[in-house]
Amino acid sequence: MPVLVSVILGQRLDAIGQGMINLPDIDRQTVAGAIATGTHGTGVTLQALSSFITSLRLVTPNGNVMDIDSSDEDLLHAARVNLGALGIVTQVTMQNREAYKLKKREWAAPTEDILANFDELAASHRHFEIFPLVYSDYSLVLSIDETDEPIGEVELDAEPTSDASISESLGLSENPTPAERLRQSNATASRIQPSESVDISHKILSNIRNSRFNEMEYSVPAEVGAECLREILKTIYDQAIDVNFVLEYRYVGADDDWLSMAYGDHPHATISIHRAASEDYRPYFNVIEPIFWKYGGRPHWGKVHSLTHLELTKLYPRFKDFMELRRELDPQGRMLNPHLRALFNA
Ligand SMILES: Cc1cc2nc3c(=O)[nH]c(=O)nc-3n(C[C@H](O)[C@H](O)[C@H](O)COP(=O)(O)OP(=O)(O)OC[C@H]3O[C@@H](n4cnc5c(N)ncnc54)[C@H](O)[C@@H]3O)c2cc1C
Repeated sequence: MPVLVSVILGQRLDAIGQGMINLPDIDRQTVAGAIATGTHGTGVTLQALSSFITSLRLVTPNGNVMDIDSSDEDLLHAARVNLGALGIVTQVTMQNREAYKLKKREWAAPTEDILANFDELAASHRHFEIFPLVYSDYSLVLSIDETDEPIGEVELDAEPTSDASISESLGLSENPTPAERLRQSNATASRIQPSESVDISHKILSNIRNSRFNEMEYSVPAEVGAECLREILKTIYDQAIDVNFVLEYRYVGADDDWLSMAYGDHPHATISIHRAASEDYRPYFNVIEPIFWKYGGRPHWGKVHSLTHLELTKLYPRFKDFMELRRELDPQGRMLNPHLRALFNA
C-alpha cells in the first residue's frame, strides 16, 4: 500500500525523535511517486527528496529484483528520479536527521527589492522563497529557519496559492484592465500583515492545499532565474492574461540524479505558474512555456509540460543514457504509457 510523505516522513519520524532534511510543499504525495518525479522542497543547499535516497529496491518489468546503492553510483543516480519507467520501486532507504523545529515568517514586500538580494537572502535562510503576485509590484515572502523557540500556532489553512483567496484579497472587479489590477493589488499587498509561527519541521515544511489547480514548473539556472521571472510577470501584464494565481519562485540545491531538475554543479531556480482546475490552463501555459525554454528551463516531471525526447536530450546531459538504461530494463515497454513513449522515443 502506498505511504504518504506526510505520514511516514512526517508523523512516524517525529514519533521516534527524527525528521527529514527537507520536504516538498504539500503532504499528500506518496514516497515512491514523489521521488520518481524529482519532487523537491526549497533551499539553495537542500536537494530534491530523491537525493536523500541511499539505496532502493527496483523490481524490473522482467521480474528481476535489483538492490541499488552507492556501490554503483551511476545506477543509483539513474534510478532515483525514474518517472516510473524502470520498474516498480518497492523499498527505499533515505537519509534523515534528528527531529528539529522550524520558524516560519511570512510577509509582503516589493518583488524587485527581494530579487535584488535574492542570492543573499537564500543563503542566509534555511529556506527562502517568494510567491509573486500577478499584476503587482509585490510578492508574498516566506523564510524558514531552524529554532529552539516554543511551538506556536501554525496556520495550516493559510493558502498563499489559493486562487480564490488571492483574487478576493485583491478586490478585483469584473473585467479590470492591467493598470487597474496593478493599482488594486499593490494597495492590497501593502496591507498584508506579517506573521510568524513555530512548529516541528514537517508541519512547517508541508502544507495542506485544498484548492485544485493545474501547474507548470520549470527550473532554470539560478543566475538567470530573476530575469526569467521578470519576463513572465511582464508577459502576463502586457498580454493581459486573465489569471489571479500567484507564481512561486525558489532555489533548489544542485544534485547528480540524471533526470533531476537541478542536475549539475550549480543551484537552480524553480518557477511555477498555476491555474484553477476549473479553468482551461492551456492558453496561459502555452504563452509562458516558451519563456522557460529561452532560459534553458527543465520541466518538473510531475507537472504540465510539452517537451519530448528531442528537446530533453539537450537539457539533461544524461538523458540519452537514461533512455538506453530504460530500453535495457524494459525492452518490451511494459512500463510505458503514451506520455512516457513521447518522452523516451519508445
Ligand atoms: C498541491 C500540489 C503541490 C505540490 N508541491 C510540490 C512541491 O513543493 N515540490 C515538487 O517538486 N512537487 C510538488 N508537487 C508535485 C508532486 O510532488 C508530484 O506530482 C508527485 O509525483 C506526486 O506524487 P504522487 O504520489 O501523487 O505520484 P503519482 O502521480 O502517483 O506518481 C508519479 C510517478 O511516480 C511513479 N511511481 C509511483 N509509485 C511508484 C513506484 N512504487 N515505483 C516506481 N514508480 C512509481 C508513477 O508511475 C508516476 O510516473 C505538488 C503537487 C501538488 C498537486
